[in-house]
Amino acid sequence: MKILVLNSGSSSVKYRLFDDGTTVAKGLIERIGEGGGDAADHTEALQRVMETVDLDGLGAVGHRVVHGGSVFGSATVVDDDVVRAVDDLVPLAPLHNPAALSGIAVARKLLPDVPQVAVFDTAFHQTIPPEGVTYAIDAELASRWQIRRYGFHGTSHAYVARETAALLGRPVDDTKVITLHLGNGASACAVQGGRSVATSMGMSPQSGLVMGTRSGDIDPTVIFHLHKVAGLPLDEIESSLIRSAGLQGLTGDNDMRTTTARRDDGDPAATLAFDVYCRRIKEYVGSYLAILGGADAITFTAGVGENAPKVRAAALDGLAALGIQVDPVRNANGDRVISPDGAPVTVCVVPTDEEAEIARQVEEKLATSVS
Ligand code: ADP
Repeated sequence: MKILVLNSGSSSVKYRLFDDGTTVAKGLIERIGEGGGDAADHTEALQRVMETVDLDGLGAVGHRVVHGGSVFGSATVVDDDVVRAVDDLVPLAPLHNPAALSGIAVARKLLPDVPQVAVFDTAFHQTIPPEGVTYAIDAELASRWQIRRYGFHGTSHAYVARETAALLGRPVDDTKVITLHLGNGASACAVQGGRSVATSMGMSPQSGLVMGTRSGDIDPTVIFHLHKVAGLPLDEIESSLIRSAGLQGLTGDNDMRTTTARRDDGDPAATLAFDVYCRRIKEYVGSYLAILGGADAITFTAGVGENAPKVRAAALDGLAALGIQVDPVRNANGDRVISPDGAPVTVCVVPTDEEAEIARQVEEKLATSVS
């Protein structure tokens, strides 16, 4: 089946065309709405895609949607009700869901006879039990304002966990994996039998691991302190924690390549940032080993996870007593399996492919909804 996967951002549209699982075209329309950009709006952006790629015989369009709230636990065929539900979730994802809605609206208009399927970043985590998603705050407030953990990067964690089981030669249903998605955004996930049982991002993609520009976990009192004691306006605090924190906040640069290079030169700020980043990963690995009651595998993925052997080694250093070891030669080579032969926990490096996972879920969804 021919499937067009669209990842619509506020100022860009990433697309990839699959034909029976194989990528036949891909591209990026950038700076939408900006003077000199590739397109004036999302309609023009999609028109550009339709002019560029051969959509003859297109079976479906798959849309990446960031926030599915508590409503969507799997890929969903888009109709007016679904659009309304995604729109209702805008307060939880004020930047991301409106962009996805623009992409969906335009694709429905320009390709009215093609089924549109929404695939949510949050859906994979809907299997986390209540005790893993409930914040211990005033229950009435939490319920009224939909405050709970949702988790993100779900398509990546789902894909990588399945690929890991395949790498181990085990059925997914009988595999426990800790997946570490370390990109600009970063999150950890405990996957038991192919289902998410814990993840580090929360109501928003702000909590958990240290990221390129986001703080990850902090004491919420930091915000009140910055407001009441330091006198910073709330907007400024929000922006600081999202855009000027993480590696950016600690080193002045959001890229792990810069951090590791400066650390190699003995830069103290970069050394501290690297250590904070890796220690946070280790804290989550330990936590998820406890949640899973041991793991068959730990898998690194995304920009940092796939390309930074020093991060992989440091994050899992000193865990031999838990059966976790990284072989230095395999790690430096970037092998798929970087633990020694016979180690109780297999440590893996698996390149993620969110678009391929979206296409797979679209195909699966349409196969089940037709039958
Ligand atoms: P996104 O989350 O935007 O999809 P990626 O998964 O591509 O991002 O990850 C991007 C990050 O990966 C970069 O910011 C950079 O820090 C990191 N990265 C890429 N290559 C390397 C490398 N060779 N060593 C360390 N970090 C790397």
